[in-house]
Amino acid sequence: MTSYRLGVLEGDGIGPEIVPAAVLVLDAALAAAGAPPVDWVELPLGASAIDTHGDAVPASTLAALAELDAWLLGPHDSAAYPEPHRGKLNPSGTIRKHFDLFANIRPAKSLEGAYAIVPRTDLVIVRENTQGFYADRSTYRGSGEFMPSPDVAIAMGIITRPAVERIAVEAFELASRRRGKLTIVHKANVLKLTTGMFRDVCREVAARYPDVAVDDFHIDAMTVHLVRRANDFDVIVTENMFGDILSDLAGEIAGSLGIAPSINASHERAMAQAAHGSAPDIAGQDVANPIAMILSSAMLLDWLGTRRQDPALTQAAALIDAAVATTVGAGTRTRDMGGTTGTRAFAEAVAAGVKKAR
Ligand code: ATP
Ligand code: MG
Repeated sequence: MTSYRLGVLEGDGIGPEIVPAAVLVLDAALAAAGAPPVDWVELPLGASAIDTHGDAVPASTLAALAELDAWLLGPHDSAAYPEPHRGKLNPSGTIRKHFDLFANIRPAKSLEGAYAIVPRTDLVIVRENTQGFYADRSTYRGSGEFMPSPDVAIAMGIITRPAVERIAVEAFELASRRRGKLTIVHKANVLKLTTGMFRDVCREVAARYPDVAVDDFHIDAMTVHLVRRANDFDVIVTENMFGDILSDLAGEIAGSLGIAPSINASHERAMAQAAHGSAPDIAGQDVANPIAMILSSAMLLDWLGTRRQDPALTQAAALIDAAVATTVGAGTRTRDMGGTTGTRAFAEAVAAGVKKAR
């Protein structure tokens, strides 16, 4: 049986609370699934790394991550870093770019018994993470925003066939494993060349997946469909900016940002990252909701288990999903969900649930 080395980057704000909560649950789930214990590799990043290494994203951290397949990333608050680091290097964006983590997979799934705008929402947004209209994140440097004069600002969007093809394959593979439905989101009536290419290349890839039912919508129409009938959707694939906006909307429809997980993946590596930020307003109080981070970590195990064909990992991921649902269903909830359970106590309840589910 393989033992895995996984990275831990705690992050800022509530990161040092929710990331250890996720580690606790992962350890319990792997034990329950009969997998060997993880070798956790803690690495400095963000505010703590500025203190110890004088750099928010130390080269030594990037080098250590290059040796790993997967890691947990806590949230970061680069706007709060001391000068000259403030707002300069966004640790999460830097890592995504450095490792070309092109697929941002963001499920929006409501939890039984918990508030949701559209109950029984269960969809996944697959967001292209490297190009589109967030040119500063593009792998094609020099293509970002610029100002030809002080009164004019210009931004460009880039879509390339290979980038659409690889994200489309991820989305179709996922849809094949789920309910076999894929929705392409674009704005091909206005952004004809860029998002038109996005739609067309996705449609071409569709020919390889005859069992997946495909439809497509303009981004504006899609927001209406999501609010009205979120539970009609299975997998949604879209470009960077549309995916960013749509996934916040979907997360909120399914419950709240505090429960919305994500992973960022390439073909080789994956990074678990909650959809929410570092929540400095509640940091250090043991009140943060660790669900998003815990479910992100479960996604990471599932990703690794699928790639390595290691059923113990996929089973551990399923145990975590089930235990989170049961714990919330039993009324154990953090403050943002109307409960009084602390971050640590919530994680301990999920870890106990994982053992019971076994
Ligand atoms: P960022 O720019 O890092 O994305 P943001 O401005 O979007 O940050 P968040 O840090 O996500 O903001 O916080 C938004 C609000 O949601 C805050 O009031 C915060 O306390 C709350 N919040 C975020 N995450 C959680 C969580 N896990 N549990 C409870 N409340 C949370
Ligand atoms: Mg945010």
